[in-house]
Order: sequence, then structure tokens, then C-alpha cells
Amino acid sequence: MSKTVSIRGAVTAENDVKSISSASIRLIERIYFKNGIKDEDVINITISTTPDITAFYPARAIREAGHAVPLFSCVEPSIDGALSGCIRVMATADSDNPVRNVYLSGARALRPDIAGRYAIALDGPSGAGKSTVAKLVSKTLGITYLDTGALYRALGLKAIENKVNTKDEKALEKCLDKVEVSLSYENGVQSVLLDGVDVSGRIRTPEVSMAASNVSAAPYVRKKLLGIQRKIAETQSVILDGRDIGTVVLPDAEFKYFLTASAEIRARRRFEELKAKGQNVVYEDVLRDVNERDKNDSTRAVAPLKKAYDAVEINSDDMTAEDVANLIVATVKEDVL
Ligand code: C5P
Repeated sequence: MSKTVSIRGAVTAENDVKSISSASIRLIERIYFKNGIKDEDVINITISTTPDITAFYPARAIREAGHAVPLFSCVEPSIDGALSGCIRVMATADSDNPVRNVYLSGARALRPDIAGRYAIALDGPSGAGKSTVAKLVSKTLGITYLDTGALYRALGLKAIENKVNTKDEKALEKCLDKVEVSLSYENGVQSVLLDGVDVSGRIRTPEVSMAASNVSAAPYVRKKLLGIQRKIAETQSVILDGRDIGTVVLPDAEFKYFLTASAEIRARRRFEELKAKGQNVVYEDVLRDVNERDKNDSTRAVAPLKKAYDAVEINSDDMTAEDVANLIVATVKEDVL
């Protein structure tokens, strides 16, 4: 049963036809996408502009872009110190989803709680290329990269070392209860620490991958790691890669992507990666592991691998990591910078 909601949004533009048109259309389309709504769900949209927007009607741009919804426009009073070139909207719509207000470009300054930082959630199955893409994006945009899989891997490693059955939730909780897992950064490179000891070099084996996938199904483990991830994202701009970032960890992330590729291509990439690291692996074993981890990750009861409704799906079968990173960087630059 959907309810009627009011969704707010704002964007800044230069006072010319092209800038006003593209900013207005972009704002409406981002509002629709982030809220999972379509024209049919919209009751009306009210638009207000600061008095310096005189070159074109935002409502006309929205209508000409094909949005056949009732539109009403007005001009805001001229207020000292107001943000210039600002287009604000309020959309009234029927929706089942939580309201996500959308502030783009210079209009982010209107929201001190989000101004100056943003979050990118990058989810998807193992081997889709998330970490390579996330590293490229973090370097280009100069933001922190949080590899959340490393946290699950560290706990998987701890369980293996203590010879605990990684599918036995009770035994896991007992083994991991006193363990402190944390992250540290040096020159943008993340290290994961177990009780203060850096285990980053020991968590990339197939054995740890499978243990991580198993322990990550335990509600206790997910709860233990949730706070660490959110805390890092609270204070700075970040890109997080994982399985449940857009759905559970950061449901309000400004940018959400779901990166996929076929199981064969993902297995091939992981196989090459492990071989390059000197590990003695067989492609068929890697493919079997990929399929098993996919099944584990998408069928577990808590925070399963799932695309958020407001995530952009990217299939990387025919794309390089650079192609994917460029796509993400371009959107972030358009919306935030
Ligand atoms: O991404 P990576 O392969 O390093 O993750 C290891 C395992 O940790 C995954 O197979 C998945 O089961 C789990 N994981 C998770 N949620 C995340 C990140 C990783 O469940 N956010």
C-alpha cells in the first residue's frame, strides 16, 4: 500500500537556457531514480527559482523532456545571502519507498549535514572487479576507499586459526566476541588489524575467501562490523565496496552501483589475479568457489547480496575497470562537484 510523500530537491545552474534545462531535468530524473518513482506516481511538482534565474523556465524544460505531470512554478523572494542560481522542487508522489531528498551541485550547500562529503556504495558478487574499480575511483576523486570484504576476511581468518567451524554461529560468536577488528590507512592504503595486528597480507587466500563468505552469514558478525563501516563514512567522502552497502550499511549513499559480470568471467579474473600472486590454483576450482560464494552471499537470511532499487547496475563483461571507474567518476563530478 503506497503512501503520499513530499520529496524535496534542489540544484544550482548558470542563468542560460542550456544550464537551466539540463540542471532541471537532471534534478527530476535523479529524484525519480533515488525514490523509485515514475511520472505515473507523481501527483504534482512545485518548482521555485531564485530571482536571478531568468533565461528559461525549468518547468518548460521538464515538460519538454517528456514528463507529463502537473507542474507549478514560482519565483522566490530576493533574500540577502541566498544561494544564487538555485532551482528548488517539491514533488508530491505515491511511493512505497523511504523519501530520499536530492541536493545536487552547489545546492548541497543548503544541507550542512551532507555538504562537503558524499558516499559511493559499490556492491556486487565476488570477482566483479569492485576493488579495482573502487581503488581507481578513490584515487581520481581523492576520497577514502573502504574495502569491507577485508573485515569479513579478517574474522574468517581468526575462525580458521582457532579451528572453529565457520558455519557454526554459536561457536563463531564465542571465538570472535573479544576480538577487536579495526582499519588503518596510510597514504590511502587500507590495512586490517585483528587485535592490533596487521593481517592484510594473510586474508587473500581461497581458504579465507570461503571462510569470510561463511562467517558473513552470521547476524552476530554483520552487527559487529556495521558500526565500523558507518563510522568511517560519517566523517569523510568514501567509496565502500561490498555486498550490502547500498541496502544496509549506507542506504542513504548519494551514489549506488551494482557491478556484475558472468560467473565465468569473474572466475577467470580471480584465477589470473591469484596466479599473478604466485598461488597454485586451478581455474575449475576458482569457478566452483565463485558459484558457491554467490549462492552463500545471495541466499543468506541477513543482508543478502541484493541490488538496491536505487542502484545503477553495470555489467562489466565487456568493460575494463577503467571504463567502469570513468563512468562513476563522471556522475559524481556532475552531481557533487
Ligand atoms: O569482497 P570480498 O571477496 O573480499 O569479500 C569476502 C566475503 O565477505 C564475501 O564473499 C562476502 O561473503 C563477505 N562480504 C559481505 N559483505 C560485505 C563484504 C564482504 O558479506 N559488505
